[in-house]
Amino acid sequence: MENSKQMRKWLDDMNLSHPLVIAGPCSAETEEQVLKIAHELKDTDVNYFRSGIWKPRTRPGNFEGVGAIGLKWLQKVKEETGLKTATEVANKAHVDLALEHDIDLLWIGARSTVSPFIVQEIADALKGTDKIVLVKNPVNPDLSLWLGAVERLYSADIKNLGVIHRGFSTYEKTKYRNIPEWQLAIELQTKFPDLPIINDPSHITGNRDMIFDVSQTALDLNFDGLIIETHYDPDNAWSDAAQQVTPKTLIQIMKDLRIRKETDEEAEYNNNLSNLRAQIDILDNQLVDLLGKRMKVSDGIGALKKQKNVAVLQSNRWNAILGNMILEGEQRGLSEEFVLKMFKAIHQESINHQEKIINS
Ligand code: PEP
Ligand code: MN
Repeated sequence: MENSKQMRKWLDDMNLSHPLVIAGPCSAETEEQVLKIAHELKDTDVNYFRSGIWKPRTRPGNFEGVGAIGLKWLQKVKEETGLKTATEVANKAHVDLALEHDIDLLWIGARSTVSPFIVQEIADALKGTDKIVLVKNPVNPDLSLWLGAVERLYSADIKNLGVIHRGFSTYEKTKYRNIPEWQLAIELQTKFPDLPIINDPSHITGNRDMIFDVSQTALDLNFDGLIIETHYDPDNAWSDAAQQVTPKTLIQIMKDLRIRKETDEEAEYNNNLSNLRAQIDILDNQLVDLLGKRMKVSDGIGALKKQKNVAVLQSNRWNAILGNMILEGEQRGLSEEFVLKMFKAIHQESINHQEKIINS
């Protein structure tokens, strides 16, 4: 993927004054439903009309999509509203049918990205196409799996590429349907700054009340666009009812979102920014210096424990440190979550140091 600028040409060529917007129902249910939603999204900021035709459901027995007939409805959407169309493909047969019906944008779903066989089959079927292909992150938080899928498509000479961040599944119960793990998306942006990245707040939140906040975070993090599930009667949708918004709500969300610029040329802003960044650089250096000193002390403790043949882990002491630091952190505006994460990392490094000494 040496020439990644090529990958975002499709997006740059659109010359948008706002983030790319893909909207439409989770699933195509009936021809009337598809067309009604599309007409309500016509003449808005929406660039692509999405609709699932084949639905990958985790458990059998749920609505699994209307199948190929839905592609005809998407063609009608394009004829009647001028909106470009988008759907998910999960095997060669889907790809062939989607291309036959001139769907403009195809995405690979989270359950497909986990399978290199499926991704390769789709890549081979799409070989050389100039359609836009977006790769959703795999269900599990694995950056290489995500990138591997993009690489397979790129190697199949598919140049108009991008990714969709739809969050990751976790055993823990959280307020999200799929936790965002923003750091993973940031790492991907850092590695491939030109690869367009679209946020999917619908599948991250699973809850329409949280769509705005997650969308705003995505824009604050420089995402290129949003894919938002939209239905005129969300509560009675045949799939993902809780997370869909009405076209009216979507239009309001797009109005309320603050679109950030990548940078600003104004001198005063740049001076102030450089000033603050210089302070951050000094503090970061001090942090690393302090951590180094802390590990040296830890080495000393390791040497003492070695002499007396005492275990490295002392749970009581560790719990006391954590409790104190959470309180200290609170007084300085640091969240408990952050303090816990940071001290767990520091503690692990400390254990590694002591292990080395005790076993030397
Ligand atoms: C979808 O977009 O409707 C979908 C099935 O998403 P995901 O692959 O992210 O679960
Ligand atoms: Mn869905």
